[in-house]
Amino acid sequence: MRPDSAVSVPDMPAIDLQDVSKTYGSVVALDQVSLRVEAGEWLAVMGPSGSGKTTLVNLAGCLDTPSSGSVWVDGVDVSSFSRRELARFRAEKIGFIFQQFHLVPYLTALENILLAQYFHSLADAAEAMAALERVGMAHRARHLPGQLSGGEQQRVSIARALINDPAIILADEPTGNLDERNEEAVMELLRAAHQAGKTLVMVTHDPTIARYADRRIQLHHGRITDISIFSEDDEREFDQILSKLWTLRENHEPLHDDSLRIAGPLSVGRAIAAMTARGWLCRENGRITLLPPGEKRASDLIRRHRLTELLFSHTFELRNEAELEDQAFKFEHSLSPEATARICAFLGHPRACPHGSPIPQGDCCPAAS
Ligand code: ADP
Ligand code: MG
Repeated sequence: MRPDSAVSVPDMPAIDLQDVSKTYGSVVALDQVSLRVEAGEWLAVMGPSGSGKTTLVNLAGCLDTPSSGSVWVDGVDVSSFSRRELARFRAEKIGFIFQQFHLVPYLTALENILLAQYFHSLADAAEAMAALERVGMAHRARHLPGQLSGGEQQRVSIARALINDPAIILADEPTGNLDERNEEAVMELLRAAHQAGKTLVMVTHDPTIARYADRRIQLHHGRITDISIFSEDDEREFDQILSKLWTLRENHEPLHDDSLRIAGPLSVGRAIAAMTARGWLCRENGRITLLPPGEKRASDLIRRHRLTELLFSHTFELRNEAELEDQAFKFEHSLSPEATARICAFLGHPRACPHGSPIPQGDCCPAAS
């Protein structure tokens, strides 16, 4: 039941900033920043006001050019593009969402979408209406931005950002001017865009909003000071999911989200998305397959767990099931790979746990005959 381990070719990053600086007179807005955003990734950019977040997003979005360093978008070095070339490239590849919406005030919602289409290729009213429909704004198509609430304007700008099907969405504080309810609606639309495979770079002040992303970076005075991936609790949830997937597969049960009833800080969907971004697993038509790195990690987890159970039941003669589980659980999380290998050797490289489930072999184990 091993998954096919297809050879994976490292994909081209969607955005690759290489040693990028941007200065305005004596102000250094960005200071030698290098950053790769993978295709399909959702990155949150955080940091205090004035730390360079907007500058970073504008450079990645070809709205501006760096003072030094190079900016690669979708495999193309855009640093030396002329304004005209940048505009063309931007219309093709990137959708923008701004805190202040930036809708043209004297054009209706529909006309704002038509204008974005026009800049890209051809205006198509039916398509533009369908885009408004998708963000729940068809009934406001003929309204001017001034006649719409903040949440409604942001939904129109999301429709505008998506209308030309760009690979990359850049959102600069997209929920900065919204109340909680509209914030949720906007995040739902961004999540859908991410699930449809878009690369998302989102600036936000708000840690709860940032948690939607696969990865978060922090800017201070134009430099990246922190790349926080996930909290320890999040990591524990990933491990629980991996262990669960392993045992489901062992029992020949289907691997899909519904089988994963795991209570953790992240929803299972978000955890799976993050694990997919790490290359641990892939999901197709709701079915999950462990990829080699996820396979290895799951195997290590299961091995550690079952060896610990065996150690506790045989060596310490813990027979009470609940106590065994409890002690083993507390103990195994502190085990290093070396200690695990020593326990394995001490127990004679056992093949099965006290419940009879197979113990995955480690490097220390003699090769199976
Ligand atoms: P953030 O989005 O994190 O609030 P910005 O990227 O807008 O930060 O700005 C970073 C720094 O660059 C700030 O000190 C800001 O004043 C300065 N800055 C940004 N844009 C300009 C500009 N067009 N002219 C002069 N200074 C600018
Ligand atoms: Mg800003």
